[in-house]
Amino acid sequence: MPALQSSPALTAVLERIAKAAREAGRDPAEVELVAVTKQQPWPSIEPVLAAGQKRFGENRVQEAKERWSGRREGLELRLIGPLQTNKAREALGFFDVIETLDRPRLARVLADEIQRLGRAPRLYVEINTGEEPQKAGVPPPGADAFIAACRGEFGLEIEGLMCVPPLDEEPAMHFALLAKIARRNGLDRLSMGMSADFETAIRFGATSVRVGQALFGPRARRGESSNAGR
Ligand SMILES: *Cc1c(COP(=O)(O)O)cnc(C)c1O
Repeated sequence: MPALQSSPALTAVLERIAKAAREAGRDPAEVELVAVTKQQPWPSIEPVLAAGQKRFGENRVQEAKERWSGRREGLELRLIGPLQTNKAREALGFFDVIETLDRPRLARVLADEIQRLGRAPRLYVEINTGEEPQKAGVPPPGADAFIAACRGEFGLEIEGLMCVPPLDEEPAMHFALLAKIARRNGLDRLSMGMSADFETAIRFGATSVRVGQALFGPRARRGESSNAGR
């Protein structure tokens, strides 16, 4: 095996995760880093991969396949963006974890496809903690019933909950709410916290944090080509 190269950005983020965990009286090993590579150029990703990071998050099925097909051996890939039902089969065949299960129709399609393929990804239910109309996720008042339906009616095993708090609000209350919904549903895995707020999320019990720009730098805007800006 080739020696691992060092990535200062990865080291810095892992140190911040460990520090936040220790300050919260938690074992740093309880908090997993999901490196979010969406809209990042390969030269930014490569050093983090070479330094040993194995868990990556993507928010689009097509983009993820373009980036990772042929090099996903030994990696864990997570879908963290909205999933259309007509992409469910493709997503099931590609991702190890789907974090954005949020409606009965998608649960039904995933359940059918899991039966057909004989292979199930790990699943998280996304909660729209801010009840933002434009955002994916189950609104908190419907969370318990939806989780129960996933487990009962659809026969799906749920690993945990995921949320993306509103941009313009203090994230702590949203993380606390996600933890509370998880607790009362017997779930102990929480995917919450991004570059701007992962330390807060760890304080409120995150077991995985999804970090993009703090690792890879600012994202290219969609549709922006390499010679944009002329
Ligand atoms: C893009 C994205 C992230 C990472 O955001 P950063 O600010 O780059 O850390 C995390 N979670 C989801 C759902 C995302 O879409």
